[in-house]
Amino acid sequence: VVHWHLVASQRKRLSWVQLAGHKGSFKAGEEGTILKKYAENEKLCFEHLSGDVLERFVPTYRGTVERDGELFLQMTDLLINFDGPNVMDCKMGVRTYLEEELVRAREKPKLRRDLYNKMLEVDSEAPTSEEHKQQAVTKLRYMQWRETISSTSTLGFRIEGIKKADGTCRTDFKKTHSREEVTQVFKDFVNGNGKIISSYIRRLEEIRQTLQTSDFFMKHEVIGSSMLFIHDHTERAEVWLIDFGKTTALPDGQTLDHDKPWHEGNREDGYLWGLDNLLHTLSSLPAQ
Ligand code: ATP
Ligand code: MG
Ligand code: MG
Repeated sequence: VVHWHLVASQRKRLSWVQLAGHKGSFKAGEEGTILKKYAENEKLCFEHLSGDVLERFVPTYRGTVERDGELFLQMTDLLINFDGPNVMDCKMGVRTYLEEELVRAREKPKLRRDLYNKMLEVDSEAPTSEEHKQQAVTKLRYMQWRETISSTSTLGFRIEGIKKADGTCRTDFKKTHSREEVTQVFKDFVNGNGKIISSYIRRLEEIRQTLQTSDFFMKHEVIGSSMLFIHDHTERAEVWLIDFGKTTALPDGQTLDHDKPWHEGNREDGYLWGLDNLLHTLSSLPAQ
């Protein structure tokens, strides 16, 4: 029996997958947990989430731990209860940078050759003739352009990556833009399984209702946070809220609607609007 447990936990650990972020920022934790590189913002979010109605949709936070002289946040591994998980990361919101990043980028309109090259890699026709001439773009220009090529600015969410149980892994969704393209990716992700589609829809509706009564949600600008979709061959299907590295508390007394258009200064993030578009996308697939 002990032997079987060992094998099962090792198998699960091997199936862990990271669909976004820098490779070095995660470590395996103790049984059933993972360690994510410490960030003050994210720690404060986990602390605020403790006792909030949203807590049951977020990985359980186990505090900070030190490994090899570095600080980490310990949290539950959401994949642990799945048998050969299929995983999808959807980054929520109409923008993925903070207003303060925008201000900083504008204050320092430094021309960046590296960002020009990144732009070229995706679309050689994206830079203006001026930008081609100087072979550089500002960070501000790059940030704003990037949001328009994915579905972030038009749908309020974008697909970051997918790993399927068959081992295939895709993170090349930078240009996945239209509702049709996004719908097709979802359809492929669930292999057209109507039961899984229904479970995901139910779970998203539960999350939506909970968001509307959450004190945490009302009082935070939620930027760069993702919904992690996970299902397996047993048709278990769950959606979890992850990544609060850029989620920021609003000044005392201020709140957000999360479905109003964003104008610089109002700090709206379009999270709920994106969730509605996500629900529409899934609802357009044949459910069961
Ligand atoms: P970025 O800001 O670029 O999105 P990040 O460094 O903030 O990256 P996360 O987005 O939090 O990292 O996580 C990266 C990936 O790791 C996720 O897409 C997901 O695949 C995986 N992951 C994160 N947290 C968990 C968790 N609790 N359980 C299982 N997988 C997780
Ligand atoms: Mg992320
Ligand atoms: Mg992040």
